[in-house]
Amino acid sequence: MSHGKQKQHVVGVDLGGTKILAAVFDGNFRVLSREKKNTRPELGVDGVIGRVAECVNEALAAAAVPHAAIAAIGIGIPGMVDRERGLVRIAPNLNWHELPLARLAERRLHFPAALINDVQAGTLAVKHQGAGRKLQNFVCMFIGTGIGGGIVLNSELYRGSSGMSGEIGHMVVVPEDGPKCGCGNRGCLESVASRSAIVRRVVAAIEKGRKSVVSDLCDGDMTRVRSRILAEAYREGDKLVRRIVDEAADYIGIGAANLINILNPQAVILGGGLMQALGEKLLPRIRKSAMAHVIGANPERVKILDSGLGDDAGIIGAGLAARAKVATAKERFFR
Ligand SMILES: [Zn+2]
Repeated sequence: MSHGKQKQHVVGVDLGGTKILAAVFDGNFRVLSREKKNTRPELGVDGVIGRVAECVNEALAAAAVPHAAIAAIGIGIPGMVDRERGLVRIAPNLNWHELPLARLAERRLHFPAALINDVQAGTLAVKHQGAGRKLQNFVCMFIGTGIGGGIVLNSELYRGSSGMSGEIGHMVVVPEDGPKCGCGNRGCLESVASRSAIVRRVVAAIEKGRKSVVSDLCDGDMTRVRSRILAEAYREGDKLVRRIVDEAADYIGIGAANLINILNPQAVILGGGLMQALGEKLLPRIRKSAMAHVIGANPERVKILDSGLGDDAGIIGAGLAARAKVATAKERFFR
């Protein structure tokens, strides 16, 4: 019994295409430490898993928690995941297909590993610790590199008939001649309002000769433009960035309005890198745009909230997946 009690801590990892975040949680699910690393997908499977392991070990060292105290690790993945088999079905940003990641991570780190889709992880986190804590019906929109969504109905994640629900980034918001989206369609919300779409449009305009402080903020290296630089340019009143980001906010509002009209949720909850960087600036604009497109709109019906978790949503959700894995293992053990 005492042996089992020692292993109360879990690790949550948010494994993105650009960065790895790792956090150590204690038995009361408080965050003890956080670490961050670049993913560098070009290193391949072993290289990336090695970087995950380094990030986790650094987080353990920072928390002064020994390896032996960790019950499990949860890993959030930007792609399709087979949770039962611990398999990454497909993760385009990492260029992974049919990868038995749980087993590979267990081999490297020596604790049980659970996988979870990153958006489902974020939604779980919002439900447990974020703005969705007291809500039964809500929709999450995570706006970062792409746009993902999680639908919570009657306090449970709605997975859809084949686990494909929540692709709200691919609702069409530009009916004709919209920009090409990663999914092959045109005019998807993600193609006009994701961070990558915003960056693409800003960079294209600069290359055509438009002036913008972004050129200085990234020292002329456009590949370095992320949410933080966009936020800085926006706050400085950069005309180009303001126009493109405001337009993105209007589209996000249209997306939120569609969700409200269809699902009548208690709230639409916004998260992700772009919201973390610019949420307080963009929320009023997103609300206004949504109000203009919701049937019978009023502030009670059109409730659009910040997740309240910022960058932590992914690691918290992954930590929750780790805890769920331990619970299952214990149940199995005592059955
Ligand atoms: Zn699309």
